[in-house]
Amino acid sequence: MARGDPTFDLFVIGGGINGCGIARDAAGRGLSVGLAEMGDLASATSSASTKLFHGGLRYLEYFEVRLVREALEERETLLKAMPHISWPMRFVLPVHRDMRFEGSTPMSKLLSTVMPWMKGRRPAWLIRAGLFLYDHLGGRKILPATKTLDLRSSPEGAPLDDRFETAFEYSDCWVEDSRLVVLNARDAEARGAEILPRTKVVSAERTDALWRIMLEDDAGRREVFARALLNAAGPWVGDVIRDTIHAESREKTRLVRGSHIVTRRLFDHEKCYFFQGRDGRIMFAIPYERDFTLIGTTDQEHTNAESPAECTEAERDYMIDFVNTYLKEPISAEDVVWSYSGVRPLYDNGASSASAATRDYTLKVEAEGGAPVLHVFGGKITTYRRLAESAMQELSPYFDGLPGAWTAGVALPGGQFPVDGVEALTSALRRDFPFLTPEWAGRLVRAYGTEAREMLGAAATKEDLGRDFGATLSEAEVAWLMDREWARRAEDIVWRRTKLGLRLDKDQVAALDAFMVARADERKLAAE
Ligand SMILES: Cc1cc2nc3c(=O)[nH]c(=O)nc-3n(C[C@H](O)[C@H](O)[C@H](O)COP(=O)(O)OP(=O)(O)OC[C@H]3O[C@@H](n4cnc5c(N)ncnc54)[C@H](O)[C@@H]3O)c2cc1C
Repeated sequence: MARGDPTFDLFVIGGGINGCGIARDAAGRGLSVGLAEMGDLASATSSASTKLFHGGLRYLEYFEVRLVREALEERETLLKAMPHISWPMRFVLPVHRDMRFEGSTPMSKLLSTVMPWMKGRRPAWLIRAGLFLYDHLGGRKILPATKTLDLRSSPEGAPLDDRFETAFEYSDCWVEDSRLVVLNARDAEARGAEILPRTKVVSAERTDALWRIMLEDDAGRREVFARALLNAAGPWVGDVIRDTIHAESREKTRLVRGSHIVTRRLFDHEKCYFFQGRDGRIMFAIPYERDFTLIGTTDQEHTNAESPAECTEAERDYMIDFVNTYLKEPISAEDVVWSYSGVRPLYDNGASSASAATRDYTLKVEAEGGAPVLHVFGGKITTYRRLAESAMQELSPYFDGLPGAWTAGVALPGGQFPVDGVEALTSALRRDFPFLTPEWAGRLVRAYGTEAREMLGAAATKEDLGRDFGATLSEAEVAWLMDREWARRAEDIVWRRTKLGLRLDKDQVAALDAFMVARADERKLAAE
């Protein structure tokens, strides 16, 4: 289908990781794809995660072995496809007698039956056994195995209270979640998909073999048609079923809010802490954006997708108290420089607590004798690529001769270099653009990978990059983000395409916003 033709093979509702991942996969199989996102790409849950490609160690206590295995297997596949925005990370898990299971996990129930004298304690041998499984379930080749640390003599023990003497250290990976979304959208577009941010799907109805879809953006409303519809609306998946499609569905979502706080940097190494609480929950403390520490997350029932996801004072204080049981130098609310919150759109499997609700995904196709719609419930950033493959598998009966899975091993834009190649890429960039400081070059490589040099163009000096918006954000970079990555407002750049919001002050952000609005207006006028 040519661009502009209003009939798509597949129309995707939602520009989070699942919508963009599916759009990329479908476009790469030759389908004509449209995607509408009512806000900015990744403006909802997919920019508010803990940002880990992880198996999910704690899900083993729920015996979610299928999910953990799939996620573990995915880590290295994903690392290779995007070595700029994701990297291996070591996790330090201190062990102590005080640590308890959450009472409702299948593992804690089993242990309290066979070993009642444990009284809900999460014993070190069980954690070690879990980590053994974690090391071996997912066919690890790049990531190093688990080892035991003596916290009394290692740098990882220095920021911790003296009562923590031993820890296990294991592997998972970091990922820049909102960049992952935008790079999937870019690759989908490069393969022919039409990506429409700031466009809401206001209604969709079946007209025999097609879906008639009403879109709304700043310019008004317009209709498009599609042979299949994909509901990847995340927390709004139920609203889309009920209010947009007016369909019947027995499936339910459970909305669980998770918040994070960011503090000044709390420790001087690059490893992450995995803290266990007395209430059975866990908390990560992760080195973040060089000068900060990211702490999270909470698990709070969230009433509906429309209510804003915000970190409450109670959540903030809970996280502060949690990490203070571990830290030698306690932190307070004064140390918090930023917080964010997101809503997990979990599949409602009837679990008792928010923490226990399954993190696995469920796909439901409904066709009712006409054009099909596929609803996506749940999922994790880590399994987005596998979820997209499963979605295509579910839709394959409706598309004769649909080619097979292809995304494993195919790099995202800027990711065509080896997993351990960031240093070499950064040095080469500094050699060719000597005005870049090491931090600046490092940031550009982590954001744009091999495309960083294309973004810098023929610049020989800092001034050649145009206006300086502060914290190494140049006009050339802003133009790149507006022209290639659909950024429109300062917020899109400072909190999603980058995290420079941590370094820019209010006036700098306002100046950037004014520049972006004026630039977009100029472009619009020129195009008319
Ligand atoms: C606190 C927290 C921590 C997490 N940590 C991790 C982690 O470390 N690792 C991991 O693997 N996973 C993690 N997850 C899970 C992961 O973030 C989510 O599963 C994933 O982001 C969901 O993506 P999505 O595309 O389904 O939803 P979303 O990202 O919410 O995208 C749905 C999009 O649909 C759009 N939309 C809705 N209705 C319409 C409409 N009518 N028209 C147009 N657009 C519409 C919305 O604006 C939204 O952008 C975490 C989740 C949370 C909340």
